[in-house]
Amino acid sequence: TFISVEGIDGAGKSTHVEFIRDYIKEHGKEVIITREPGGTVLGEKIRELLLTSEHMHHNTELLLYFASRQELIRQVIVPNLDAGVWVIADRFVDASIAYQGGGRALGIEKIKQVYALLEPHLTTDMTFLFDVPLELALDRLSRGRELDRIELESREFFERVQSSYHQLAKEEPERIKTVMTNQPVKYTRDLLTKYLDDLLK
Ligand code: C5P
Repeated sequence: TFISVEGIDGAGKSTHVEFIRDYIKEHGKEVIITREPGGTVLGEKIRELLLTSEHMHHNTELLLYFASRQELIRQVIVPNLDAGVWVIADRFVDASIAYQGGGRALGIEKIKQVYALLEPHLTTDMTFLFDVPLELALDRLSRGRELDRIELESREFFERVQSSYHQLAKEEPERIKTVMTNQPVKYTRDLLTKYLDDLLK
């Protein structure tokens, strides 16, 4: 079973990914979390390039994310899925659609075309989209250690990222489950549990 977690910076994704993993584990399944870019030797080098290069063409950024993802798919995701291990991807293709397609304004279609080149062409069984009103996300970022990130990108960038995520969730309501994180933690966990129970059946 292949799950991914997504959301704009500041949406609280990392708080909940461990809960998801632990819940699956408690139900007797083996489970791993992958992060991207990274997760393989080559992927970690690509991550380094993405995080340390100041200026890069938007297409270069896009292709580096996909290069890292291709390695992750072949070396980690597919072998684990084949062995019956549950895989939770901390960001996957939907992140490229939102960040490079929306944020960098390359367009959703272009991202889908590039994704079509990857082998194999995986689709998640379920994707959790963690979401909060943009104001709250930006506020969380400005109070956290990720100040660099919001100084680097404009408010409009994050608006485009978020609205692309919303568009995806609207297009694929069966696969993409939106989970609001401006609610009490219990609310979020109950909702996650309900969706995970469906997958664990
Ligand atoms: O998942 P995490 O929040 O750690 O992502 C690290 C950074 O990479 C984030 O700031 C996110 O905005 C960025 N990112 C991106 N394009 C992707 C995936 C992540 O710009 N496809």
